[in-house]
Amino acid sequence: MPENIEAWWERRQRSKERAVPYPVGSYREEWAMYPMLVRQYHPDLNRMITLTQIPPAADVYLTWQCDAGHLFVATPEEQRSRPGGRRRRSAWCPVCADLAAPRRIRPAEPPASASAPATGRPTAGGPRAATRSSTACSG
Ligand SMILES: [Zn+2]
Repeated sequence: MPENIEAWWERRQRSKERAVPYPVGSYREEWAMYPMLVRQYHPDLNRMITLTQIPPAADVYLTWQCDAGHLFVATPEEQRSRPGGRRRRSAWCPVCADLAAPRRIRPAEPPASASAPATGRPTAGGPRAATRSSTACSG
C-alpha cells in the first residue's frame, strides 16, 4: 500500500534516525533516466522533498504537475510505467490523456478464447493449436 509522502518520509526519518533520511541528490542518477518525470515533479508540491531524495522504487504517493498545469497523484512506479516514463519526449498526465481521447479505432485483437485444459481431456481428433502470444509493445 503506497503511503502519502508525509507518512512515508516520517517513517524513513524514524527508521534512519535522521531528520533527512535521504540527502538531496541521493537518487539523481536513477531519476536522470526519466527527464519528463523530473520535469513533472515539484518539491513544493511534495513537502519540499526533492525527487532525488526519493528512491525510484519507493511505495509513496507523489504529486506531479504536467506542462499544462494539471496536478495528479501517482507513485514512482506508476509514473515510470506510463508513456512519459518510457518515451522520453512525451509526458503523461491523466487529464491530458482524457482530453486527448483517441480518435482512431484500433484494430480489434483476436479473442484469446483458445483455452485448452492442461491435462487429461482428450480432444476429439482435433489438432492442438500451438498458440504463441506475443506481448511485445510496438510503441
Ligand atoms: Zn495535463
